[in-house]
Amino acid sequence: MLIFNTMGLSPNLLKGIEELGFEKPTPIQEEIIPIFFEKENDIVGLAQTGTGKTAAFGLPIIEQIDIRNKSVQALILAPTRELCIQISKDLKNYSKYIKGLHVVPVYGGASIDTQIRALKKGAHIIVATPGRMLDLINRKVAKIANVRTVVLDEADEMLNMGFRDDLDSILEKTPDIKRTLLFSATMLKEVARIAKNYMNSPVEITVGTQNAGAENIRHIYYQVHARNRYLVLKRIADINPDIYGIVFCRTRMETKEVADKLIKDGYNADALHGDLSQSQRDQVMKRFREKSLQMLVATDVAARGIDVNDISHIINYNLPEDNEVYTHRSGRTGRAGKSGISIAIVNYREKSKIPQIEKNIRKNFERLPVPNGAEICKKQLFKLIDRMEKVVVDEAQIAPFMDTVNKKLEWLSKEQIIKHFVSLEFNRFLEYYKNAPDLNEKAEDKRDKRDKRDKRDKRSERSHSDRHGRRGKNGYTRFFINIGKKDDVIPVNIIGMINDNTKDRDINIGAIDIKDSFSFFEVGEKYTAKILTSFHDSKFKGRRVRVDVAEEIKGGRNKGKRRKKSFYS
Ligand code: AMP
Repeated sequence: MLIFNTMGLSPNLLKGIEELGFEKPTPIQEEIIPIFFEKENDIVGLAQTGTGKTAAFGLPIIEQIDIRNKSVQALILAPTRELCIQISKDLKNYSKYIKGLHVVPVYGGASIDTQIRALKKGAHIIVATPGRMLDLINRKVAKIANVRTVVLDEADEMLNMGFRDDLDSILEKTPDIKRTLLFSATMLKEVARIAKNYMNSPVEITVGTQNAGAENIRHIYYQVHARNRYLVLKRIADINPDIYGIVFCRTRMETKEVADKLIKDGYNADALHGDLSQSQRDQVMKRFREKSLQMLVATDVAARGIDVNDISHIINYNLPEDNEVYTHRSGRTGRAGKSGISIAIVNYREKSKIPQIEKNIRKNFERLPVPNGAEICKKQLFKLIDRMEKVVVDEAQIAPFMDTVNKKLEWLSKEQIIKHFVSLEFNRFLEYYKNAPDLNEKAEDKRDKRDKRDKRDKRSERSHSDRHGRRGKNGYTRFFINIGKKDDVIPVNIIGMINDNTKDRDINIGAIDIKDSFSFFEVGEKYTAKILTSFHDSKFKGRRVRVDVAEEIKGGRNKGKRRKKSFYS
């Protein structure tokens, strides 16, 4: 096994990483660092956050920087502001003992003037989101003609977020002679296109998440009715009073709804999603890192790049569309040798995804019954008693009051006093869980549900066949699109098309419903016209795409009028 000392890193860099507690390189570092120093190849790394990839590219990049040369020598592109900040912070930590090295992060949603000033002071390494980078290049503030290394970190995510054109424009402006490293969790077609167009016969390195399938992560699922998801989430939080976790939701809207309900119900939770301003996001993350927030409710995109080590629970409020995303989510717990639990709240339909996920994580799920009221009350009670036992008694401060207190409680026995104190804190739980229903989905429910679903599917197949669906959720317009499973469409493709076509990354996207030969998607009402015009002439895998506003079915197949709002032909 390699150690850092033998890898060609200078003493000052070794001192920096030693201080961070890095003793030996992770597998991806063992592979990439030697290639970097000994060969000239471009590198494609199929790896995710948690594998140590930042140091894998960061350490050799720092090593190769010529400090006296004031031009930008490395450009690192990443999808989100959080990830840019994280990477730049990591690089600054590694190079703590290297004098005069300048790493400058630039990203959207923050003052461009401050970033321009920072760049003008000099940057050897720029860590940037693609949109802001392009802006700074066009303003002639960021000069990348002398760049020797380009890193595309989380390339799949940058493409999913609609940065394709920006990436193309930036890469076209980099010099021909340079080394390019691309990191991606998945080898999407678009990622392969970037690799093909901009990389020179790259070496491909695949490294699983350190945590994927790790022994120290337990995977649990509860099977419940979709309508009971929130109640189950509350029970999970109640049965784990010390929880420090991330609750993953599919959409920004759902993230907001769940976090709002938790806050209203007195839980220590908050939301992290793309609709928040940068300073709000920073605030939430700060509170989460400091552990003054117990539950972070987040979308996958917003939670990307969050590097928090001792997360106890990952909760999948529902399973992700893409099974591989489950691996990313669960890999955020069980880090740094600690144990962790990944919980999925699944309904009957989602259950069929479990076997594939088990293959990906190379571990089995345990199906557990949803905790019942008695179990939760017992757990909470023990927690309370434990706190009571461990509380530090300030003898001097309470001494003057003790006489009066003792007198007042004279009439109660020791047992009674304990009961009264326990009840004082605990009645709220007892009351809430007194007649708590069983939230597990039952076999007969499943059958009923299956029958109902079959009927509904048949009905909807008939009505959908003439391009109609139910109405969008409040504030959303529901669209029909003529591509579906048969075209190998997955939700990220639709999100990508919406972002690419509208050139708007802030567009709020609701439910996406992929059928066999067509699909539905929901988008904030105010974007209706933009969607209709921007999808005109758009194509998917060479096939002309048609988009139309789906209309409400009024009273079933033969009732009610159907009116086309607009349709391209
Ligand atoms: P990354 O995949 O780059 O986000 O890194 C995941 C975590 O592993 C971060 O907290 C790093 O600080 C940590 N890490 C990276 N390399 C090493 C190493 N060689 N030894 C110990 N921890 C590491």
